[in-house]
Amino acid sequence: MDLKKFRATAARKRKPLTAFLDKLDEIVPHDMPELVAKVDATVWQDINCMECANCCKTMTPTFTKADVKRIAAHLEMKPKEFMDKWLKKEEDSGDWVNTTQPCQFLVDNMCSIYEVRPADCAEFPHHNKKPFDLYNDTFKNNLIHCPATLTLVDRLKKIVEKEYEW
Ligand code: SF4
Ligand code: SF4
Repeated sequence: MDLKKFRATAARKRKPLTAFLDKLDEIVPHDMPELVAKVDATVWQDINCMECANCCKTMTPTFTKADVKRIAAHLEMKPKEFMDKWLKKEEDSGDWVNTTQPCQFLVDNMCSIYEVRPADCAEFPHHNKKPFDLYNDTFKNNLIHCPATLTLVDRLKKIVEKEYEW
């Protein structure tokens, strides 16, 4: 994964893809779930997270109480000890997030706590959320972080603009 090239592509395509997602807030193709599933399958043929890890390098997951309890136990730590060492509370949202980026658990481009990783990480990049358009703001934000989301939205845009009344 050439992340330098991805960043340049994302910078170039962010505006038109954001405009597409904005419009998708108002006009949702009737077969959106099937279309997203079909296009998303093509995305994962071309993108390998193991060669990327850009989400772990540039973003932070939110840690729920259950995440903290599970991960701290896995690391043989007390939840408070775990939180004091690695987390901070975001002022605006009140979410518990990492203090540093890349994530402290990213080792050799892989998640060292994969089996017990936060639910937020397990669900990322949220392409299978339903309804898809409910997560448009998330996708807009992730266009510059996730090559898979950039590719999915780009491919959706091309298909929808060509084959649907739009
Ligand atoms: S916990 Fe694992 S999957 Fe989640 S951001 Fe950190 S390294 Fe990535
Ligand atoms: S989810 Fe997106 S940003 Fe994270 S590793 Fe996969 S392609 Fe990269």
